[in-house]
Amino acid sequence: MAEQASILHADLDAFYASVEQRDDPRLRGRPVIVGGGVVLAASYEAKACGVKTAMGGRLAKALCPQAIVVPPRMSAYSAASKAVFEVFRDTTPLVEGISIDEAFLDVGGLRKVSGEPADIAVRLRAAVKDRVGLAITVGVARTKFLAKVASGVAKPDGLLVVPPETELEFLHQLPVERLWGVGTVTSAKLHERRIRTVGQVARLGEAYLVSILGQGAGRHLHALAHNRDPRPVVVGRRRRSMGAQRAIGRGPHALPDLEATLAGLVDRVSRRMRAADRVGRTITLRLRFDDYSRATRSRTLRQPSSHTTVLLDAAQGLLAASLPLIVERGVTLIGVAVGNLDGQGEQLMLPLERPDDGGLDSALDAVRERFGSSAVTRATLLHRGEGFTVPLLPDD
Ligand SMILES: [Mg+2]
Repeated sequence: MAEQASILHADLDAFYASVEQRDDPRLRGRPVIVGGGVVLAASYEAKACGVKTAMGGRLAKALCPQAIVVPPRMSAYSAASKAVFEVFRDTTPLVEGISIDEAFLDVGGLRKVSGEPADIAVRLRAAVKDRVGLAITVGVARTKFLAKVASGVAKPDGLLVVPPETELEFLHQLPVERLWGVGTVTSAKLHERRIRTVGQVARLGEAYLVSILGQGAGRHLHALAHNRDPRPVVVGRRRRSMGAQRAIGRGPHALPDLEATLAGLVDRVSRRMRAADRVGRTITLRLRFDDYSRATRSRTLRQPSSHTTVLLDAAQGLLAASLPLIVERGVTLIGVAVGNLDGQGEQLMLPLERPDDGGLDSALDAVRERFGSSAVTRATLLHRGEGFTVPLLPDD
């Protein structure tokens, strides 16, 4: 776990509905529902009436008769998502997309060139607003779990930093629904017993939680309430790339030093790949220069590999090819990522599955029923090869 709060969770607000409001001024400030049969997204004005994603259209219209219902425009959402992910990747090479409108960004290695994580988050929000015209909320914390919780609390159009020393205080005052994995079933069971906050959960024994929620949910919740084991949160999500980066400050840097930095990065990434039993085919070298410009160079291997020597060989070739640029502009950051990852016998699964709540699955099924499976496929293919899988429904 990182020592400092340097993980950003960036999540666009009411994504599809916000794109509609951005593109049609008549929709701004008004309740907007995307999708007629099933609610694919609702603007905050519609959410205020109780409209929720994945709700049936008839119920949504009953709750919010004044809402304007618009058909989805997947290509517009795809384009907006691409543009936002460009901003993410301009912020840091370490971007882990978890859905069409949401990603984790590790900015831990960037202090020297980009400043403190909170400042980076402020600039990221401004850049998304400026370049894409959309509001994005960012949570900053030491772990992905807390960063995700923080962005949920900060929504809409917010920024929330959780400093390491206030993690428990932050968590314990929250309603239990803020914890990942707590769906309607779990929260109803807790509410029956007058348990409403994470702090109340934290005071309960694991055995008691298991007795009321079952083993999986009970243990999961107990761990999260104690700010432990963030791993269950990301169950089911498979990364498609792994990377590492290092800021090296303004030069001049001797070539052997650059090569040593590169070797260290490749070693780190390849070790992590082997630990996760993954092999990869595409090696990408990312460079940032004195003038803040950037360059990316990739090479794809004939055979996927996780061998340090194989990956390093390719990375060194990329570095050599970039030397003219480095000499001209001066390099301040080196990043290495390995993509096209394969795992042995493992499948990509949809992210955001909740342990006790089939909400997303049934929502996706409903969407397939309504729009045909191509609606789902299109969104899934959107970022193919770019490092992440995409569920159809952004959760917020
Ligand atoms: Mg979102």
